[in-house]
Amino acid sequence: MLQAFLHLFYPHTCEGCGHELSRTEKILCIRCSLQLPVTGFQKITGNPAEKIFWGRVPIQHAMAGYYFYKQGVLQHLIHSFKYRKREDVAVFLGRQLGLQLKESAWWKEVTALVPVPLHAAKARHRGYNQAALLAEGMAEVLECSIWADGLKRTGFSETQTRKSRTDRWTNVENIFAWNRRIFESSPHVLLVDDVMTTGATLEACAQAVLQAGKGVKVSACVLACAA
Ligand SMILES: [Zn+2]
Repeated sequence: MLQAFLHLFYPHTCEGCGHELSRTEKILCIRCSLQLPVTGFQKITGNPAEKIFWGRVPIQHAMAGYYFYKQGVLQHLIHSFKYRKREDVAVFLGRQLGLQLKESAWWKEVTALVPVPLHAAKARHRGYNQAALLAEGMAEVLECSIWADGLKRTGFSETQTRKSRTDRWTNVENIFAWNRRIFESSPHVLLVDDVMTTGATLEACAQAVLQAGKGVKVSACVLACAA
C-alpha cells in the first residue's frame, strides 16, 4: 500500500535512462549507477580536490564523489534536484556519497556535517538547500550529526549594518559567517556542497569555520567536481 502510494509522488522510472526500475532499484537503474563517473578520491591523500585548497586554506581532507561532465547522467541528476524539486534525488546521492566516504581512512574523525548555505533568495525560491539534502543522505549512512545552521551567508549590506560585538555571527570576507552558538570544543567540521569548480565558495566557508576558534578542523566533501 505504502509503496503504491509513494509511486504516485515519485515516478518509478530511472532518472538516468527513463526505464522502469525494479523493486530493489531506487532513483537509478543498475546500468546508470555503474555509469556514474566515480573519482575514488576518498582513498587518495593529496587528491585533486585536496590540492585545490593547498596554499589557500588549511583543510584536513577533501573529496569529490564524481566527476562532472556536461550531458552526463550526473548532470541530469543535479539538474533534477536543483530545478525540478526532486529532493529525493539529492538525498539519494547524499547516501552514495556517504557510502564512498565510509571507504576513507578519515570519516570517523568528523564531528558534524555543515552544508554550504544558499543565498536566502535562492533557498526561498527552491524551497530547500540541496547541500543540506546531500548532508541528510550522508548523515544517514555515516550516522553523524548535521549542523544545518552552522554557517550562514551574509549579504554585503548586512555586514555594513550589523557589526556589533554581540552579533551571533562572525563575518569572514563578507560572504559566510560561523554560528557562535555552536559550542562544541575542537570540532572537525565536514563542509558539504553539490558542485565544486574553483573551490572559492568552500574556501570562504572553511575560513569562516576556522574563525570558530583554536582546535577547529575543517574538511570538505562535494558531490561533483570538474573532470
Ligand atoms: Zn537507467
